[in-house]
Amino acid sequence: GLAGVPTSDQPQKAKEYKSDQEVRWCPGCGDYVVLNAVQSFLPTLGLKRENIVFVSGIGCSSRFPYYMNTYGMHSIHGRAPAIATGLAVARPDLSVWVVTGDGDALSIGGNHLIHTLRRNVNLKILLFNNRIYGLTKGQYSPTSEAGKVTKSTPLGSLDHPFNPVSLALGAEATFVGRAIDSDRVGLTEVLRQAAEHRGSALVEIYQNCPIFNDGAFDVLKDADEASRRIIDVVDGQPITFGNGEFAVVREGFGLAVAKTSEVAPEEVVVHDASDLNLAFALSRLSTQDLRHTVTGVFRKTSRPTYDDGAREQVEQAKAAQKADLAALLRGKDT
Ligand code: SF4
Ligand code: MG
Repeated sequence: GLAGVPTSDQPQKAKEYKSDQEVRWCPGCGDYVVLNAVQSFLPTLGLKRENIVFVSGIGCSSRFPYYMNTYGMHSIHGRAPAIATGLAVARPDLSVWVVTGDGDALSIGGNHLIHTLRRNVNLKILLFNNRIYGLTKGQYSPTSEAGKVTKSTPLGSLDHPFNPVSLALGAEATFVGRAIDSDRVGLTEVLRQAAEHRGSALVEIYQNCPIFNDGAFDVLKDADEASRRIIDVVDGQPITFGNGEFAVVREGFGLAVAKTSEVAPEEVVVHDASDLNLAFALSRLSTQDLRHTVTGVFRKTSRPTYDDGAREQVEQAKAAQKADLAALLRGKDT
């Protein structure tokens, strides 16, 4: 259903983006952090309320549009990218956001997601990854780690999981980022850059589900183990982490993590967000146990968007007066 009918104004404060709906996520759910971060940074974009749309699929995170005092649609399972594509093509004046989860985006809607990304439709896609099906009470998802014991995998999952960032880069998405709910500053920065990007922007957000997969990302907060700290991928900067104690270096066609004291400064990789191969290698630093996981903006590059191209062709067809609907219906050539 439609999530309310907002009036025309230009909200200046986070609270103006809060709807009158009671938020029904479980206490402690990581979704609250993302909702608050989005409501806080949206006013900085200077958009009119009626020009913002949040389209979701099905799942816990897909309740998001209800809680935003913008236009929105809680749509069908896995199909938010398709609905949002239609909107982006028909209404270039809108800022269109997709909110989806690991099951919705990568299982039920896997096909829609990859084609949206390769087409470079002007959409911002927030992929809440809690590595579990939360709404249906705890089955393994396409991002659950191999061997994961859940209600639907009592002897452990046999599936090898997707790495959503690698998948999006494989589809040659023009903007790919990753953030974690426990790092509000980093999350807001990635969201801001995604919002400013023209084309498809995919942001994977590691999101804790305290009910069915609690602590899935705790290893990233473990300050005692420097090698497990998150690296922030900032364009043009040498990639180091753990107070510079560790650095990312090239190893064959991939990347490796080395002690900064054991490598020469020139061996430390400098991030270039337009380099697809580097972005992919960085995404592979995140192994199943999340050691060396990277957050930040992996890729940011520009390519013509699908929606601009589609509108241009409509104009061309109109100008050439080829689209004579009555003639088509009569089954004749124009
Ligand atoms: Fe959040 Fe998990 Fe509850 Fe869903 S089941 S609202 S993901 S805590
Ligand atoms: Mg999930």
